[in-house]
Amino acid sequence: MAARVLDGAAVARAIRDELRPDVRELAARGSRPGLGVLLVGEDPASTVYVRSKTRACEDLGIASETTRLPAAASTEEVAAAVTAYNARADVHGILVQLPLPRQVDTTRVLDLVDPAKDVDGFHAENVGRLVQKRPRFVACTPAGIMELLRRYEIPVAGRRAVVVGRSDIVGKPMALLLLHADATVTVCHSKTRELAAVCREADILVAAIGRAGALRAEHVKPGAVVVDVGMNRVEDRALALELAPARAEEFERRGYLLVGDVHAPSVAEVASALSPVPGGVGPLTIALLLANTVRAAAAQARG
Ligand code: NDP
Repeated sequence: MAARVLDGAAVARAIRDELRPDVRELAARGSRPGLGVLLVGEDPASTVYVRSKTRACEDLGIASETTRLPAAASTEEVAAAVTAYNARADVHGILVQLPLPRQVDTTRVLDLVDPAKDVDGFHAENVGRLVQKRPRFVACTPAGIMELLRRYEIPVAGRRAVVVGRSDIVGKPMALLLLHADATVTVCHSKTRELAAVCREADILVAAIGRAGALRAEHVKPGAVVVDVGMNRVEDRALALELAPARAEEFERRGYLLVGDVHAPSVAEVASALSPVPGGVGPLTIALLLANTVRAAAAQARG
């Protein structure tokens, strides 16, 4: 039986539509939400992500601007751009597109973002608040996944959840959100032994690994809900078509496919629900960024 498709794009559209009146109201009161983006270098994936985010802002009526710095920028130069956004009353949210070039001290830069404008939820203060279950801004990807589960009425409390990946931006905050929603949570990583057996315990399995098709049917308990965070560029024709047989024409056109961490054709036969790539977690991440920016603007308008 084929798994139900968890349509993240549709949920993202619903979230965006719900934000429209709030944006209009804030704009009418002279507080049109504003997002300041910082893009360092010309990494193609980062450039595409920034374009999607600023377009989504435009569509919703959020003002956005992008400060571009050269790939050779120093920590001081990046820090100065963050400080400039911090000081601006019309910039309510700040997004530092990651990864930053190697020579830039990412922790220092993220620590400089005003926590009240930290719409990505990466600042230590906001991470600490999440740990203590009094969140302000939560990382957009895991927050979007919780929204996906909620809107599909997938129960979390009391269920076994396994998160594969322990990054600061996806795996760790995901595990905390599931824990706070009363799941029993296991976090796996590259040193985990018997990964497939651990994953098979999961009622809810979240894949945030960064390896195309890494989780296969053998990792999935029959009936589990599987959320695929992965976004991997696959240029190998055989692998691309194995993971996404229906997208052969797209592969021929582009010369690559963006695919998830889940081996979708086999997992769809075992899972009860699966989020697709593309059209799953990606659009939700953007929708939650917009939601956080609107909340930041509303909070700052209240003073
Ligand atoms: P990172 O590279 O920061 O983290 C990957 C994690 O996966 C690490 O914890 C690593 O373990 C673990 N891992 C790697 N290989 C294995 C393995 N063989 N078995 C078990 N665990 C493994 O990646 P991110 O968290 O930033 O991103 C993960 C994926 O999600 C990527 O494909 C990324 O592109 C995508 N992504 C998608 C977003 C979206 O909006 N759709 C947003 C953000 C990310 P260890 O810690 O031991 O190294």
